[in-house]
Amino acid sequence: MRWRVAAIRLFSVVMVCGLLAIPAAGIPTQAASPLVVTFLDVGQGDAAWVKTPQGVDLLIDGGPQSAGYGVVSYLTSHGCTDIEDMVLTHPHADHLGGLVTVLESMPVYAVWYTGQSYSSSLYTQFLDLIASRSIPTRVLSAGQTLTVGPLTVAVLHPTTIGSDCNNNSLVLRLSYGSVDILFTGDVEATGEAEILAHGYTVQSEILKVAHHGSDTSTSWGFLTAVAPEVAVISVGAGNSYGHPSGTTLARLASVGAHTYRTDLDGTITVTTDGVSYFVSTTQNPVTATPTVALTRWVYLPVVARGAVGTTPTPTPTRTPTRTPTPTLAPTGTPTRTATPTGTPAANSIQITALQYAGSDEYVEITNYGPNAQNMTNWRIQSVEGDQWYTFPSGYTLAVGAYVRVHSGPSAVNNPPTDLKWTGSYIWNNDGDEARLYNEAGQLVDNWVY
Ligand SMILES: [Zn+2]
Repeated sequence: MRWRVAAIRLFSVVMVCGLLAIPAAGIPTQAASPLVVTFLDVGQGDAAWVKTPQGVDLLIDGGPQSAGYGVVSYLTSHGCTDIEDMVLTHPHADHLGGLVTVLESMPVYAVWYTGQSYSSSLYTQFLDLIASRSIPTRVLSAGQTLTVGPLTVAVLHPTTIGSDCNNNSLVLRLSYGSVDILFTGDVEATGEAEILAHGYTVQSEILKVAHHGSDTSTSWGFLTAVAPEVAVISVGAGNSYGHPSGTTLARLASVGAHTYRTDLDGTITVTTDGVSYFVSTTQNPVTATPTVALTRWVYLPVVARGAVGTTPTPTPTRTPTRTPTPTLAPTGTPTRTATPTGTPAANSIQITALQYAGSDEYVEITNYGPNAQNMTNWRIQSVEGDQWYTFPSGYTLAVGAYVRVHSGPSAVNNPPTDLKWTGSYIWNNDGDEARLYNEAGQLVDNWVY
């Protein structure tokens, strides 16, 4: 706890003086509310909560569906009971899933997204919830600038919607005073090159590393233009994608960035007064322990910004004019087996991931329903090649469980979590669609990438 006190005092000094100073006895510790950005540990996925000094809450992605209750619990237990602006960078389930739970659990006053079309039952559920609540949406594209109190949000990407979902990711640069934080979604090198070609300012002290540290993102040219001091990788421990890649970690190190990872550091919080900032971490993941306290302070202010002599001018808090009634009162005991939406049985079994790059490809299917599901004669189709997989007779997917059906040279067979389809590649790297059919031949879910 000595470290925590030290961190707060030093930070307060920075707030008062406007530049880095050595803590001294007698310095008052009272200061204006800072901007707080929390990168939640949601396992394999992305979720960041931005709280402005005036108490406006932005939620940028919500992690996978499995983390939804943990996200809601973390927010409510930290005093956030509504979201002014919900941001979806792109509709992949590891970013979207938790947002659906948040929408079901607390008032949301606006949704920002790219407006892209994407075929998944989860995205349909998301859009239906927004429509049924009459939540205003804002379609963002490159070149726009939004203001949220003292916060400036520059939209750097996408300019147009293409066929690659990751490269359609919203890229947002949040500026508070002289501290900039870059949110990149899962944008890959192609999108990064487009951003640079536009000549947008990307330099940022804090970088949310794109696509969980995959080596298909964070290209050298983009990274050196951003020149981050702190890099945050939101990634699940032991994920099968191999995220983050050693190449990306090496690149980050070579530009001098201090890298934090949610799989190693837990939830990561950046606190800034617009002049300096500090980073704190906790190793308690919100997925496992929803109500966490900061337990480990590992990083003290290192940035002196003497050129900036003023602190941002506070702007009055925006007052929501409409108060949606949440349909689900958040409870203190999150549980994956509860299904607050009363999701019909047809949506209980969902495709939750499709890994198509690398020597081990797989489709992941999760049972979100209240009952175990006998998968006998259920089938998966790869639409591009019209290839089919039939589940083994008697195979049962337990409540809350997932199964991955593997293909490719490294395909493994390790029931009940891993089943082997074939040693050959199935999924087309340029885009394909997975469809899941039940024993009656009815389409249960699909996934397009
Ligand atoms: Zn992702």
